[in-house]
Amino acid sequence: MVSKVVFGRGSFTQLGEIIAPMRLNERAPFIFLVDDVFENNASLLAKIPLLYNDQIIFISSEEEPKTTQVDSLVENIILGSSILPSGIIGIGGGSLLDLAKAVALMLTNNGLSQDYQGWDLIKQKGIYHVGIPTISGTGAEVSRTTILTGPTLKLGINSDFTPFDQVILDPELTEGVPKEQWFYTAMDCYIHCVESLTGSYLNAFSKTYGETALELCKEVFLGSLSPSESQDKLMMASWHGGMSIAYSQVGVAHAMSYGLSFLLGTKHGIGNCIVFDHLEAFYPEGVKLFKQMTAKHNISIPKGICAHLTDNQFDVMIDVALSLEPLWENAIGKDWKRTITRSVLKDLYSKM
Ligand code: NAD
Ligand code: ZN
Repeated sequence: MVSKVVFGRGSFTQLGEIIAPMRLNERAPFIFLVDDVFENNASLLAKIPLLYNDQIIFISSEEEPKTTQVDSLVENIILGSSILPSGIIGIGGGSLLDLAKAVALMLTNNGLSQDYQGWDLIKQKGIYHVGIPTISGTGAEVSRTTILTGPTLKLGINSDFTPFDQVILDPELTEGVPKEQWFYTAMDCYIHCVESLTGSYLNAFSKTYGETALELCKEVFLGSLSPSESQDKLMMASWHGGMSIAYSQVGVAHAMSYGLSFLLGTKHGIGNCIVFDHLEAFYPEGVKLFKQMTAKHNISIPKGICAHLTDNQFDVMIDVALSLEPLWENAIGKDWKRTITRSVLKDLYSKM
């Protein structure tokens, strides 16, 4: 679990006060990994409490984080200073939060980040790391994974050392998110809830968190909240949705969306929406509500992205999707291999 969290509009201004006790010494900087969408955002940058050798590194989130990107960031940080930083602070969406978690871990674990994609392969605690989301939905602020695309896999570094030491949840930071992106990332949270609440791994913890997040999503997407209430509730939904899957697992939409992402680079939020739109057979109630939400907010889900793919390319996506066995087991049950065949997945992908 994340050990410390603050929530509240404007809480970002407390960052300096929060991290000050964690500074090791004047030579050990805090490194701020910041989404480059904020590069010219003077009011946000003015609130980043730079001291001594602290450094801001702007990073594009146009593509999802890669193992090679993590390795080169780590190399540059090590080359740039004779001692380890005091901490890594990620400011942005799921992409920047995952990068911050991965960099913090790889500063203390030898080798390449691709060696640690999997479950519980990290042996050393990372350096102090703080997550500050600026868009709501992924639950990356609370999860025990950092999802990376490596040379052969899109797979998280899942470990007890991955979660942030501190999270700052300030809904005001989500102010400028473009509408379509707002929807796609938020639907990641909604889909986390549906997949968790209908899965065979469900338990009292995942159920309580999942139901809370689902209710918040309904208020945000089908209710009539003010913009600030909607930002506040969506940030809480993201956290609770993330906690729900931390105690259980995701399902069909995520397994298939990973295939799209690996082959076509489709980003997580939009990829989940593209897949989920076709999953009535697995999640009838969830998909019905999803279609209501897309209609209400006038969002068009891309179609035809698999129209011109070769058999070979379908095979790559199917291999990635089928490799995520716990997701299928959660969604369908222990004997999932009887019904989830390559041809079922090919039919589904062909519709997208
Ligand atoms: P993102 O970080 O990829 O950002 C999406 C877009 O929104 C970017 O263009 C970014 O610049 C923009 N943006 C972010 N905040 C903004 C703001 N306040 N104003 C204007 N623009 C803003 O989006 P995401 O959907 O949050 O994250 C997706 C990533 O999260 C994927 O890499 C996915 O693999 C990962 N993910 C991780 C977990 C986990 O548990 N670790 C869970 C789900 C998804
Ligand atoms: Zn997700």
